[in-house]
Amino acid sequence: MYKAETSLVTTSLHFGDMGKTSTIFMKQSSKVYISLSIEAQKALFVDVYHRSTIEACGVLLGTMDEQGNWHVEQAHPLRNIFASPVYFEFAPEDLLMVEMEHPDGIIGVYHSHPTGFANASSTDRENMKRVNKEQCIPWVWCIIRGPFTDASAEGRIALSSIVAYHHFEKEGLQRVPVVLEATSSDKTIS
Ligand SMILES: [Zn+2]
Repeated sequence: MYKAETSLVTTSLHFGDMGKTSTIFMKQSSKVYISLSIEAQKALFVDVYHRSTIEACGVLLGTMDEQGNWHVEQAHPLRNIFASPVYFEFAPEDLLMVEMEHPDGIIGVYHSHPTGFANASSTDRENMKRVNKEQCIPWVWCIIRGPFTDASAEGRIALSSIVAYHHFEKEGLQRVPVVLEATSSDKTIS
């Protein structure tokens, strides 16, 4: 769940300033992917295991390329003000703080499903549609599926535990393939 209306308006204005990106976004099809840096994978892991009994949540920071792929460099945890195992909501002031620290850097949102529910809930789907389609904010949505009780987990999220979504202009809500970067030097190899 997501209700930070005041901050969403601010975010919308940020993206509205990016005329070129917005145009590309409108053409974007579902043939795009999201990549997660090793740093982001570790941060997600730490967060969902630390908050294993509630929905951990936060924003994804990074860049979108010209094809509309999302490249997540960092995951930034935010408080779930409901501290619920089946619901999350950011405090608007927390989101605003991250926006001020990383202007135009927020490219998506993540939350966990500690109960193990593998897909977007009906509430999730409504939020994805509202933010992506009605508010024209090109965020990608990541859900990390629990349970987070496995002591043998090795410090990173398993690919099978992550699902990503985006509500596309023409195709509606679609799953987005997730790419886990394997080394932190991926981007420097020529
Ligand atoms: Zn959810």
